[in-house]
This record gives sequence, C-alpha cells and structure tokens, in this order.
Amino acid sequence: MRIAALIVAAGRGTRLGGDAPKQYLMIDGRTILRRSIEALLADPRIAFIQPVIHGEDGALFAASVEELSSDRVLPPVTGAATRSGSVRRGLGALEGHYVHAVLIHDAARPFLPADVTGRVITALLDGAEAVCPGIEVVDALWRVEDGEVAAPVERTGLWRAQTPQGFAYDAIVAAHRATEADLADDVAVARAAGNPVRMVQGARENYKITTPGDLDRARHETGGNMDIRTGNGFDVHAFGAGDSVTLCGVSLPFGRGLSGHSDADVGMHALTDAIFGALAEGDIGQWFPPSDPRWKGAASDIFLRKAMERVAARDFAVTHLDCTLICEAPKIGPHAAAMRARLAEITGVAEDRISVKATTSERLGFTGRGEGIAALATATLVRT
Ligand code: MG
Repeated sequence: MRIAALIVAAGRGTRLGGDAPKQYLMIDGRTILRRSIEALLADPRIAFIQPVIHGEDGALFAASVEELSSDRVLPPVTGAATRSGSVRRGLGALEGHYVHAVLIHDAARPFLPADVTGRVITALLDGAEAVCPGIEVVDALWRVEDGEVAAPVERTGLWRAQTPQGFAYDAIVAAHRATEADLADDVAVARAAGNPVRMVQGARENYKITTPGDLDRARHETGGNMDIRTGNGFDVHAFGAGDSVTLCGVSLPFGRGLSGHSDADVGMHALTDAIFGALAEGDIGQWFPPSDPRWKGAASDIFLRKAMERVAARDFAVTHLDCTLICEAPKIGPHAAAMRARLAEITGVAEDRISVKATTSERLGFTGRGEGIAALATATLVRT
C-alpha cells in the first residue's frame, strides 16, 4: 500500500506572538512545522509528505526545512482560505502519485509519537477507510452559562480527536468533493459522506500548540530553555578634560571627564560587549567602528540598544546583567540605584536582574593612580 502524508500548514495564526505564523516559531532550534514533518518521516511506510502552505510563506518554509535532507518531502503547494480548502488542494496535488492511503496531519502537532502514526497506518492496512487517533476525556465536563456551572455533561464515550487522521485516498477525495463546507477536521468530512471512522489510541504528548501556554510547555519540555549563555565585557577610558563623567547612562558631576570617541560610558560599553560576547557576535567596535564619524560623542545607549536588538533577533532574552566599575573616584555607590534604573529603562530587563557595583584597585595601577576608569561586565542570556 502506497501511503502519503499531507501536512496542513497554511494557517495565519499569529496569536502566539512573534511576527511569523505559529508553525514557523522555534522550539529548541527547529520550527514547529519542521518537527511535525520529521515526526511523520520517522515512519518509513510513509512514501512522501506533501506540505500545504500559505502563498506568502514560501521563504519561511524554505528556511524551515533547509537542513532537512529528505527526498520524501515534496515541494509545497499553496493552500486555501479554509482548512478544508487547503486539504482539498493537498489531495489534488497527490493525484497521479498512485497513492492508496493518505495521512492528514496538523502542522501544530510537532510531538506526534511514532506509535500513534503506527496505529493509524496499521488500521488502514487492516482495511479501515478512515482512522482517527484520539484520547478519552478524563476530566469532569460541565456546561457553563454566563460564567456559572449550569449542567453536567456525561463524559462516557467522549474522545478528543487528534491527527494524523488516515484515509483511503479515493474515499477521502470523494468525500471532500461531496462537500463545500469548512468542517472541523477530515473525520467530519468523511462522516458527512457516510464513511465509518475507526478510533485508535492517540497520545497526550500529541497535543496541538494553540496558546502561548502550549508554546511555553513545548519549549520547556524540549529543554529549549536550557540554552543558557554568559558573556563578559571589559573596557577602559582615560580621564580627560571635562566636568562630568557618564557611567551606566547616568551623568555624575566630577572634576574631569572621560575621553573617548563616543560619550565614553565605560560601564555601558562593558555591558554591551558582554551581551555581544554571549551571542558570539563580535564586539562593540565591529558593530560601531570608531572610524565612523557618526558615533562621535554619541550617547552609548545606542550601542546597548543595538545589542538588545540582536538578542531579540536571535530568540534570546537577557536574564541578568552585572557591571563592576573600577576607580578611586568618583564614588559610585550613591548613584548605583539610578544607574540600574537607567539600564533597566534601556534594556527592558527588570531592575532586580541588573547589578551595578564598584571597587577601587587599592591605589594600584592606572585606576589606582586616577588615570581612568575600568569596567567589567557579565551578561546572562537564555534562549526563549
Ligand atoms: Mg569604550
């Protein structure tokens, strides 16, 4: 029996956040869609997979499957405005491929276990025309009206449907031809055509990622939050002419200034380099060459904001920043709170995750002689 699989990924759902539809969001380095495709590829009895995508998602799809080396994934076809319409287009694309049976899977179920796919295929091989994996409802069910529990719902015999749903190809094509409606799933389409549908055991982990909570759960379970990185930064600026120094975004009146190409905010430079370090994306000098006149006298928050922009672009979040300023004077302690507040404002990181502290070098070395200020910083990043 020649078995194909359709993966329905034409939806526009962006309510999980991010600027891409949910099937293109990352879970531990791989998109939800790619994980769903890989789950189907795990069964060697599936001859090939036909993805159905949205017309605007060609580039997202290509990037998503870039490193997936399988000649069993066909080039995608464009879906329609409704799920049923997209399935019809996918079924149409399989015409001429001599398919006997087809599995139809939601792109938003990336954790499909191999044994669920196996049970669907076994039922098809056993002669079933339509097969649905599902799990029995175990929670008490209540009908709720206006926020009040109104009546119990008998749960005996109630199952929650999952995918992949499996069908004899000719039967599901005929069933889709017989209806124009956008039905909830292909089981509904098969039933509308009068076809019996066999229920087989699904799995709890085969849940559909629908809410931000589902996405958090998925990322947590796959260890996606375990990509933790630290970076360090170090910077020095010499004292020069002036009557104030800017440290961690706060200007302190002082008998001298700090010399440098920008505003010479040594603390913010060290923090910025720590973040670039954690991302392994070079350093402040590479992003903002001192030879470029645009950065002359610039307020250093533009450097830090750039680093934060890169953090977001790489799907990381800063969970902690720690900066140590090394000088004999000015006194940092009285201003540390203002510095933390200013850094929180620039980075969007909560103030209780930002540390600014100071030390002297016991009058030793260039900081001890009062020739300048040094700063070192550590940034901790976690993949979101
Ligand atoms: Mg610097």
